[in-house]
Amino acid sequence: MIELPFRQVHLDFHTSPLIPDVGVDFDPEEFAKTLKSAYVNSITVFAKCHHGMSYYPTKVGVMHPSLKRDLLGEMVEACHKEGIRVCAYISVVWDEYSAGNHGDWLQVNKDGTLAGRPPFGNRGWRFLCMNSPYVDYVSEQTEEILRLYDVDGIFFDIVMQTYPGCVCNHCMKSMKQLGLDPTNDTDLYRHSQIVGRNFMSRMDRLVKSLKPDISIFYNSRLRLESNYELGMRKESDYFTHFEIESLPSGGWGYNHFPLFVRYYQTLGKDLLGMTGRFHKSWADFGGFKNRPALEYECFTMLSLGAKCSVGDQLHPRGRLDITVYNLIGSVYKKVAEREEWCRNAKPISDIGVLISSSFYNDWRTDSDEGAMRILSESHYQFSFIDSLEDLNKYKLIIAPDRVVVDEVMAEKLRRYLKNGGKLILSYKSGLDGDRFILDEVGVDYLGD
Ligand SMILES: [Zn+2]
Repeated sequence: MIELPFRQVHLDFHTSPLIPDVGVDFDPEEFAKTLKSAYVNSITVFAKCHHGMSYYPTKVGVMHPSLKRDLLGEMVEACHKEGIRVCAYISVVWDEYSAGNHGDWLQVNKDGTLAGRPPFGNRGWRFLCMNSPYVDYVSEQTEEILRLYDVDGIFFDIVMQTYPGCVCNHCMKSMKQLGLDPTNDTDLYRHSQIVGRNFMSRMDRLVKSLKPDISIFYNSRLRLESNYELGMRKESDYFTHFEIESLPSGGWGYNHFPLFVRYYQTLGKDLLGMTGRFHKSWADFGGFKNRPALEYECFTMLSLGAKCSVGDQLHPRGRLDITVYNLIGSVYKKVAEREEWCRNAKPISDIGVLISSSFYNDWRTDSDEGAMRILSESHYQFSFIDSLEDLNKYKLIIAPDRVVVDEVMAEKLRRYLKNGGKLILSYKSGLDGDRFILDEVGVDYLGD
């Protein structure tokens, strides 16, 4: 298992090709020393951004037109000199350059519209399909980066298909071959999972063939799904670790990270919580989070068994903002002082909470969030679990509100109860039509 450093920065750099003077103020030594002085020991830097621009001399893709230096190469070298680990960021489904040049690579929604930003929209991004020849292009870019630079990991971003699935010509063809019905949402969603997993399988083989020991992460895929076949468990082998992107002020809220980490901690991989230094969300250049907020977020990560990552955005001219690194440094100093006590920490949970969120209920997480808050505020130790988890690890199983109990799960619960386990169901959990699937529940359904 890859063991991640505790103090990371995820350095965004989505820079429009219209912006001049990219990287002119970049000083590699100053860059690495600023990070080091802020106690940062790992960073994700940009190889290719959402605009489809590369930040190194590339023969495969397109280098940013106003960049006159090998920004990626200089960052990798300078950071390594200071003992800082460096991962390369590659934007996958969002690549405006490719979207503007290859209409046949774009994802199509089931109503026939193009996924993502519409033709006259002024915000958002178009979606490239991971089932199209675009993947050959991403593969060649990834190979080029791995051959040119001694990176310690690859961070693939936006590894997702439109919901419930893409109906571009490539996808229609492969659904037909697989016997799936594109007019059926469940089949569309299952096909999306197949497409995503095929992409990850291909990248996994490529990365491991060139650098078998580096970290690999695919962002935008982490979800809370009770059905393990549709969820992350089926694809977790492609991940060396999990990074839980969760900026409380950026739309995720304060319930997201503690909920997700309590599921991902059951999958046996190293974990990273990722917040941002922004007052609100990504790309908020001038907004700074206050220090107590950043402390709360980083210490929550540590207390729940995760390492820390703080998102920042590099100014197009290439100089890190010292105010930001004073802030990050003030918190990471405290993390550094405490991390020895957090290394290899394993959660010991008395309670297993069956996830109620699922594709089959539009991923409603309100019941899961409610259970998480009740148990956190009551100081219980608990994990969220999917349908494959061994129930016997827990003294008590809770099924909050809407947990679908099929015959396989019912049998699992019967055996668990026979072995002395305890079970709490609330609201409609375990209800099959107008009766409870488990006779052991001992109650009759009288109405809603
Ligand atoms: Zn498609």
